[in-house]
Amino acid sequence: MTIKTSAYERSKLWPPKSIPKSFPKNFKRSEWDCYDKRGQLIPKGALIAAVPATGPVYQAVLLCAWNCQRIRDRLCDIYQRDVKMTVLSGWRPKIYNDAIKGASNSQHLYGRAADLTAFGVPTKSLYEVALKMARSGEIDQGGIGYYPRSRFVHVDTRCVYGMKAARWSQKA
Ligand SMILES: [Zn+2]
Repeated sequence: MTIKTSAYERSKLWPPKSIPKSFPKNFKRSEWDCYDKRGQLIPKGALIAAVPATGPVYQAVLLCAWNCQRIRDRLCDIYQRDVKMTVLSGWRPKIYNDAIKGASNSQHLYGRAADLTAFGVPTKSLYEVALKMARSGEIDQGGIGYYPRSRFVHVDTRCVYGMKAARWSQKA
């Protein structure tokens, strides 16, 4: 499978120095693996592709995971308990992104994004915490999408890759 990489990823600046070496304690690489949740391409629930163990997608997933960990740590502080988080959708190879009619330049294609839920935390609160942390620079700048009906928050690190920040909300 060919993964499209950006000019940035092909440049000498890649990988960015800020990318840590290993995954944070509460998120693992496999959480960004791509499963066919609705069975559009292969039997429902089957694995389409696992995140590679090296390379740009791996690095992007790693960086994204650290941002998720920072959000999780903040929620644990706020709620004074261990807040479990789930990556509903992580990396999406093109074949799958096309199948679900994802945005053509979706950050999920590059492993830079996660659609998150936090157990026992209202979607709105998760969204507000992510926004606030992006504003203060506690997470990498990127895209934050609020999906109240679908009950998840999208976070991505697009600015690390030279793109502009983005904010959007699911239509009511
Ligand atoms: Zn998303």
